[in-house]
Amino acid sequence: MAKLIILAIAIWLVITILKRYRKSLDQSDASAENTGRDSESMVQCAHCGIHLPQSESVLSDGQYFCSQAHVHAPKDESGN
Ligand SMILES: [Zn+2]
Repeated sequence: MAKLIILAIAIWLVITILKRYRKSLDQSDASAENTGRDSESMVQCAHCGIHLPQSESVLSDGQYFCSQAHVHAPKDESGN
């Protein structure tokens, strides 16, 4: 009976260690993204082409815009 308990504890330990290992991998990825936030990447407005920090941009349909107005602005405005 004692063997069963030891086996159960061993399995639980392995699962716990694996979970922690996975979590530490995820956290290292997240911290890498956080450090990259200091040197913020610039994005280009898909409508007017102005460059601006990614945090100040508006993301819509996978494209960055400088403002909500340009998100809703017609895309095929060739006259400008
Ligand atoms: Zn714009």
